[in-house]
Amino acid sequence: MPEKPFFFDLEFETLKDELISLGQPEFRARQIWQAFYCNLVETPDQITTISKELRQTLSQKYDFTHLAPSNRLVSTDNETVKTLFELPDGRAIEAVLMHYDERQTLCISSQAGCAMGCVFCATGQMGFARNLSCGEIVEQALYYARLLKKSNKAVTNIVVMGMGEPFHNYDAVLTAIDRLNDPAGFNLGARRFTISTVGLVPMIKRFAAEKRQINLAISLHAANDALRASLLPIERKYPLADLMQACKEYIDTTKRRLTFEWALIQGVNDTEKDALELATLVKGMLCHVNIIPLNPTDKFNGKTTTHERAVAFRSTLEKNGIPCTIRLRRGIDINAGCGQLASTHK
Ligand code: SAH
Ligand code: SF4
Repeated sequence: MPEKPFFFDLEFETLKDELISLGQPEFRARQIWQAFYCNLVETPDQITTISKELRQTLSQKYDFTHLAPSNRLVSTDNETVKTLFELPDGRAIEAVLMHYDERQTLCISSQAGCAMGCVFCATGQMGFARNLSCGEIVEQALYYARLLKKSNKAVTNIVVMGMGEPFHNYDAVLTAIDRLNDPAGFNLGARRFTISTVGLVPMIKRFAAEKRQINLAISLHAANDALRASLLPIERKYPLADLMQACKEYIDTTKRRLTFEWALIQGVNDTEKDALELATLVKGMLCHVNIIPLNPTDKFNGKTTTHERAVAFRSTLEKNGIPCTIRLRRGIDINAGCGQLASTHK
């Protein structure tokens, strides 16, 4: 790991104290903060409002990047861009940008690898390496924001659905979101963020109690314990009944709509029976179901569902009064599924 502190790990107050100890006036911290988080400069050299000497001091004191882009892929329809980044310790993570209507949605990673071992997930198949720091999560957003700025665009939504389990790295993820939400900095509204979790019950409860405006998605994929346990090992620790109880608590406390994610795997969880079981499980809850045809991965035998089955699954849910949407598999030609690019990185 590099020895210098990473600038994007710093809280504003820490930066302010450091600058004061360097004999700088208090407003200097705000200038520097705005340069990085509003004007999206990459290095102190680009900050024209401070002295050359201070620029040099900052460059000597801090690291300003932990993400070295090592591969960038653009889907054939030009709508999805996926970047693989190498971290200072050689680990690889990825972040994906999706252009959709007027939205620029970013899918960012929270960990290098993942400890949860979901059988169909490329990240789960590679195992856990380490948590990302707050700054490493923030830098993924800054990277794409700088890129978009060149064509006068901006990041409009951020989903923490890349590599890793965000609630297994709770503090860094929430601090990163707070940083990107900061009105005096990056200023992306809290409602523009979505965290997706595999279902870490204590963390769902903690998140609910914090009553944040951030959206929450739960990876359900199965509506009975046996099937869920065969796909998501975490089910053995936090069974469906506990998970659903935590979800209800979340909705009651926050009055916010919850999203459930369901990756359709042919013959495994895409039948009429599965749809009915799901409808029964979530009936009456303030929720929305995202139906996502499985992205096939190397180490999982399951196949993706057919389009007809996905449509039938949706119509069963709709008939039972469950709001739902089929999400397209975007960027399939560039392995834009969770962890799929990094798992081919040596
Ligand atoms: N760890 C979190 C967030 C990252 S995964 C979570 O599991 O929710 C983001 C979403 O992608 C999850 O819903 C996950 O189940 C889903 N996913 C993972 N691998 C997939 C695949 N091969 N095909 C379709 N969805 C997949
Ligand atoms: Fe981890 Fe989410 Fe993949 Fe499961 S689906 S292994 S929790 S990243």
